Amino acid sequence: MLPFLDLKATNARQRTQLLEAAARVIDSGHYIGGQEVEAFENEFANYCGVDYATGTGNGLDALQLIFKALISLGQLQPGDEVLVPANTFIASLLSISHAGLKPRVLDPNPDTFNLTAEGIKKALTPNTRAILLVHLYGQLADVQAVQALAKQQQLILIEDAAQAQGAHLNGHKAGSWGLAAAFSFYPGKNLGALGDAGMVVSKDRHLAERVRQLANYGSSAKYQHSLQGYNSRLDALQAAFLRVKLTQLDEDNALRQHLACYYHQAIDNPYIHLPKFPDPLTQHVFHIYALCTPYRKALGHHLTNQGIGYGMHYPLAPHQQASYPSLQTEPLPITERLAQQQLSLPLSPAMTEQQLKKVIEAVNCFKPS
Ligand SMILES: *Cc1c(COP(=O)(O)O)cnc(C)c1O
Repeated sequence: MLPFLDLKATNARQRTQLLEAAARVIDSGHYIGGQEVEAFENEFANYCGVDYATGTGNGLDALQLIFKALISLGQLQPGDEVLVPANTFIASLLSISHAGLKPRVLDPNPDTFNLTAEGIKKALTPNTRAILLVHLYGQLADVQAVQALAKQQQLILIEDAAQAQGAHLNGHKAGSWGLAAAFSFYPGKNLGALGDAGMVVSKDRHLAERVRQLANYGSSAKYQHSLQGYNSRLDALQAAFLRVKLTQLDEDNALRQHLACYYHQAIDNPYIHLPKFPDPLTQHVFHIYALCTPYRKALGHHLTNQGIGYGMHYPLAPHQQASYPSLQTEPLPITERLAQQQLSLPLSPAMTEQQLKKVIEAVNCFKPS
């Protein structure tokens, strides 16, 4: 059986360094915050080309803390409208709702699966104050034009870069385009921890400081809690693991791009539509390789019969979930079609060429009955 994602194989490649990192933390006596966390925050800020990075407990917290900090600083008011793609993981929406803001979901571009500046511009209302730009599947979302639009319209641009660690355009990485960005280091992400972990990066010192304070019980100094904060901190063990894995990220992303190109060239099946690739390809780090087919259920069965795992990102959009019963009144035909048709093939830097060929052969011989 070839699983959709083999995390054991992924981490086995750096097993020795990971064990060394764990030993370093165990022997240090510092398990929350401390030197490892500080070092990783600096290394990751540097990697992304931003000034500030703050570790958090996970990616959802990173997103929520950005919005809560913006409210706390008076840059957003409760009830303000935040635009967000309709075809994203539920966390993007939850971060907006949990901060007391109003998510407004938009259909994406059908070729990139991401929002575009044009789509955002058409959707603006007098209540729109911010954009949560998701770089879905690892691909930067029309960043130059959206950044320009946000500036022109005085909207706050926040990036959900949970799937796009290392994607870059013109030398600017995911996470460096907006006022702030949230990353997740959930084990399956391109830069994955061995547990939950997340990060807020920002160019704005006030915002970064407010996030750090909110994430640590609203504490400005020991015993002083000037804000009603939360507990969402990056622990030293995960930081130490992530420092090891960050050294491998660029190589892994290049491998993912290579494997995605291999799929792109070798898959040939009239019932299957492959994703379009951006130019330059550096904009896409292929967290997910999602194809489209009106015969998804049959293709899923076929792959299972051939011993191949697959994923769906995502079969139910947030507005179709029971947790969001009255999110939208406008039609979202692209999102709903993608929710029905998308299927994600295995793609990870630990995959062998033999495994890749097995997937390609299986996909190429698929016929809906
Ligand atoms: C993974 C993910 C998140 C949430 O990250 P967690 O660490 O699981 O909380 C948020 N947004 C997107 C787009 C994601 O893929």
